[in-house]
Amino acid sequence: MASEVVMLNVDRWYRGAVLGVAGRPQVERLLRTRGWGLAKRFVAGETLPEAIAAVRRLEADGILGILDLLGEMVADATAAQAFTERILEIFPALAEASLSGYVSIKLSQIGQDLPGPGGEPLALSNARRILQKARETSAFVCIDMEDCPRVERTLEQFRQLHAEFGEQVGLVLQSYLRRSEDDQRALLPLHPTLRIVKGAYSESPEVAYPEKWKVDAAYLRMVYRQLAAGLPVAVATHDPRILRSVLDYAQRNAVPRELLEFQMLYGVRSDLQRQLAAQGQRVRAYIPFGPDWYAYFSRRIAERPANVAFVLRGLFQS
Ligand SMILES: Cc1cc2nc3c(=O)[nH]c(=O)nc-3n(C[C@H](O)[C@H](O)[C@H](O)COP(=O)(O)OP(=O)(O)OC[C@H]3O[C@@H](n4cnc5c(N)ncnc54)[C@H](O)[C@@H]3O)c2cc1C
Repeated sequence: MASEVVMLNVDRWYRGAVLGVAGRPQVERLLRTRGWGLAKRFVAGETLPEAIAAVRRLEADGILGILDLLGEMVADATAAQAFTERILEIFPALAEASLSGYVSIKLSQIGQDLPGPGGEPLALSNARRILQKARETSAFVCIDMEDCPRVERTLEQFRQLHAEFGEQVGLVLQSYLRRSEDDQRALLPLHPTLRIVKGAYSESPEVAYPEKWKVDAAYLRMVYRQLAAGLPVAVATHDPRILRSVLDYAQRNAVPRELLEFQMLYGVRSDLQRQLAAQGQRVRAYIPFGPDWYAYFSRRIAERPANVAFVLRGLFQS
């Protein structure tokens, strides 16, 4: 256990350090100009047709897609409107290609981050437009969870949208946050569809568990709580130990297949995605696209030292 604590402290330090370096303007400039070739491992393309082509390729392998137009923490209304318009285009494009309709959005992309009192109502009205559009093609919309200061407002907006759109909208909860299990308990009476993730941001120990084993234990409790209540859950992780535990739990408790979905990131453990799909599990890949790929790419690099090595190798070789 002591070694686990040390390891997670190193993990947390490492993630904070990499995100800090990636946020420096000179590093961002370098990676934005020379890093696209590397980012393509995790990002399907800069345009919607490229993203649609990626969904089509994955569906041929039995893996469904989740489209995510990259962009977040947008602080002006014109940009928030532009993002909303581009998200609206995704639904008819998926339907025309006869592909499964599932889109992830971030509220900070569509207005939540605007200064002053106008941000929340703008994000809510844009989210409503997105959900109305999704409804036309029976598509599903999941609201991603961002960093800790945005969690409370995201929960409030989710409650409001869920009251209007029901099971057409879902939410992400992060097991590294100390508050998340209470948030889940409070949401259960709504019967929400949840995606459980560990969490990708650099958070302080006051709000997030510093110990990896606690993050993992909370993760499993949150998945099992959802299943025990007979509610659908997306198990979004690449962690083989967690996947094994969830599969065992599902078998022991005869969990209906339709309640359980496994989700992973585009370009990460594609072998495992195919293996689960071949076993008859429902698997979805989260497929980010768009020109605004830098913040997403930084978080992927910060997840694993191997990814930093991959970037450094790529920069030296190019
Ligand atoms: C579909 C989806 C949606 C997400 N949405 C959100 C969101 O809304 N908000 C948010 O904060 N985070 C989100 N995340 C990111 C998430 O929080 C984690 O940062 C990310 O999934 C990595 O954690 P992990 O659960 O895979 O486990 P980790 O603890 O990072 O890794 C556990 C094990 O998984 C394997 N593994 C992990 N990453 C890799 C890799 N890159 N290559 C090879 N093996 C790997 C390794 O065996 C590793 O030891 C999402 C993730 C997914 C899959």
